[in-house]
Amino acid sequence: KQEHTEMQFAINYVNEVFELVQKRNPYESEFHQAVKEVFDSLIPVLARNPIYIEQNILERMVEPERVISFKVPWVDDHGAVKVNRGFRVQFNSAIGPYKGGIRFHPSVNASIVKFLGFEQIFKNSLTGQPIGGGKGGSDFDPKGKSDGEIMRFTQSFMSELSKYIGPDVDVPAGDIGVGAREIGFMFGQYKKIRGGYVAGVLTGKGLQYGGSLGRTEATGYGTVYFVEEMLKDKGLSFKGRTVVVSGSGNVSIYAIEKAQQLGAKVVACSDSSGYIYDKQGINLETVKHLKEVEKKRIRDYVNKHPHAQYFEGCQGIWSIPCEIALPCATQNEIDEISANMLVSNGVVAIGEGANMPSTLDAMRVFLDRKILFGPAKAVNAGGVAVSALEMAQNSMRLSWTFEEVDAKLQEIMKNIYRNSMNAALEYEAVDNLVVGANIAGFKKVADAMIAQGV
Ligand code: GLU
Repeated sequence: KQEHTEMQFAINYVNEVFELVQKRNPYESEFHQAVKEVFDSLIPVLARNPIYIEQNILERMVEPERVISFKVPWVDDHGAVKVNRGFRVQFNSAIGPYKGGIRFHPSVNASIVKFLGFEQIFKNSLTGQPIGGGKGGSDFDPKGKSDGEIMRFTQSFMSELSKYIGPDVDVPAGDIGVGAREIGFMFGQYKKIRGGYVAGVLTGKGLQYGGSLGRTEATGYGTVYFVEEMLKDKGLSFKGRTVVVSGSGNVSIYAIEKAQQLGAKVVACSDSSGYIYDKQGINLETVKHLKEVEKKRIRDYVNKHPHAQYFEGCQGIWSIPCEIALPCATQNEIDEISANMLVSNGVVAIGEGANMPSTLDAMRVFLDRKILFGPAKAVNAGGVAVSALEMAQNSMRLSWTFEEVDAKLQEIMKNIYRNSMNAALEYEAVDNLVVGANIAGFKKVADAMIAQGV
C-alpha cells in the first residue's frame, strides 16, 4: 500500500513537471521527447527517494541555467550579406563546466539545441568525467559552401560565442557539420579575440595545437565498444555479423572501421540523400575518401564499386536485413515502421551512435521485443568522454599516446555499460539500458545539485 502511494506520488510529480515543460517550451517537440523519455525512467527512483521530489529536482533540471541566442552575420563569396541564428544552451553545471558540441545544420532551432543539451547532461555524467551539459549550433547550412565562406561564418559565430565560454566555464566541440576544419577556425578566432592561447577552450582540436589522439575515432569506436559489451553479456560478438550503419560522417566512419576490425560485415551506410548497399561489404577507404577528402555524396560510391547499389531516400536503409543496426546519422531516423522492419528481419542488437535516433515508439518496439538496445546517451558517450581526456591533457600540458587514450576509452565504455545495467537491476528494470542509463546519469547530477543548494 505504502509503496503504491509513493509510486502514485512520483507519477503525479512527473506529470506536473512535464506539463510545465510543455507550457514553458511550446512547439519544442524534440525537447519534449527527450524529457519524456528521461522522466518515465525516473518514476521508481523518485518513489524510492522522496528527497528528489522535496527538492523539486526535475523542475530545476529541465530549466537550462542559461540560453544564449545570437545573430551571426557574414558575407558570401558573391559579396551578399547573410544572417544566421546561433545558439548556446548552458544546461547544467552541477558536476563540471558545460560541455557539448556545436551543430551547423539547417534544422537547428531552440528545440533541437535544448534536446541535445538536456541529453548531454546525463551522457556526460555517465562518462564519469567532471563535465556538465551544454550544446550549441546554428541553422547555417555548410552544404555547398566554399572554404572561405565556412571560415567567415565560423569566425563570426565565434566572435559572439567567445563572450560566454572558457576552459572552466563552457567547452564546446564538434557535432554534425562541425569537424576539425571548423574547430580550427573557431580556435583561431577565439585566440585573436582573447589575446592569449587558451588550449582548453575547445576540444576536437587538431593534433598540432592541443588536440588528443583518438578523439576523431572516439564516438564511432566507443559505439562499437559499447555494443560489444552488450553482445558479450549474452555470449555473442561482432564476428561474422551483418551490420547496417546509417550516416557517413565522423561517427559512422569510425563505427564501421571498428566493427570491421572485430570481424563484422558492414553492408550499408548513407547520407542525407540516400544509401548504398554493398553485399560484399563496404569498402571503407572509398567512403573515407569520398566524404573526408573529395567532400562528395555517398551515391558516388557506386562509380568505384559498380556491383554496389544506391537508393534515394534515407528510410529504406532499415529494410536491409541485418543482425546489428547502428543508427549514426541523426535524431528520429528510426520510426515505428522501420523498427518493426528491423525486428522482423531478425535484428539482434541496436546501438544508437547518433543522438536520439529512435522515436519513442521505435524504442518501445525494440524493448517490447527484447532486442538488445543501447540508448544514445550511453552508446555515443565515447566522443565527449575523450573530449574530457583532451581537457585533462591540456591542463597538464602533455599528450598521451593513441594506445593510452584508446585503453581509457574502452574502460569508460565498459563502466558505462556496467553502471547502466546495475542501475536497471536495482530498480527492477532488468536488461533495460534506457532506464538504466537514465537513472545512473541522473543520480550523480541530482545529488550534486542538492549538495550545492538551491
Ligand atoms: N557532439 C558530441 C556529443 O554529442 C561530442 C561533444 C563533445 O565532445 O563535447 O556528445
